[in-house]
Amino acid sequence: MSVVIFDFDGTIADTLEPLLAIANQLAAEFHYSPITVNELKQLQQLDTREIIRQSNIPLLKIPFLLRRIKTELNQQIAEVQPIEWIPEALSALKEHHHSLGIVTSNSEENVAAFLASHHLTPLFDFIKSGTTIFGKHRVIRRLLNQRKISLDTAIYVGDETRDIESAKAINMRIIAVSWGFNDYDVLEQYQPDQLIEQPQALLAAVENLGLLCE
Ligand SMILES: [Mg+2]
Repeated sequence: MSVVIFDFDGTIADTLEPLLAIANQLAAEFHYSPITVNELKQLQQLDTREIIRQSNIPLLKIPFLLRRIKTELNQQIAEVQPIEWIPEALSALKEHHHSLGIVTSNSEENVAAFLASHHLTPLFDFIKSGTTIFGKHRVIRRLLNQRKISLDTAIYVGDETRDIESAKAINMRIIAVSWGFNDYDVLEQYQPDQLIEQPQALLAAVENLGLLCE
């Protein structure tokens, strides 16, 4: 049995469109150009550092921008939908006695509201929020220590190249999913342990990794 720790945005919740709309609303205030659908397709092939570099947003302003985005998203959280087939895939993991949790840079409040409105709350044993974009590995490491979860049983699931980097930074196994923000090819370049294209493949990916470590 594994402890499967999920990223939230793009992995469980289909927040790409609302986040894009919010990012565009805030563009003038934070002095960057609004993003068109075509530009979004290009951004999905880039890693996070490159996106920030191309946006010309000063690094120091990013925490303020992220806080604003989370507050704005909170206003629309009731309308955010789960990724198609994710509820079924999460239930299947639970039925196979895997333990599930969430580590996110979104707010705990947003995640809890989303889970409640889709009746997903009972599936998860914990939600942990960390505010940094590149410090996710520290949040995960602290969580593993606090909950006494061994790296041998832990698996992270995320949709971005920085999720793969975070897991690798602490030698944790990672399943990358291509239904979220980053596209398949760029995820593949970061060499996740498993790379899957649909939630129906999640249970098999988790169980493959479990077998490898036995
Ligand atoms: Mg994500």
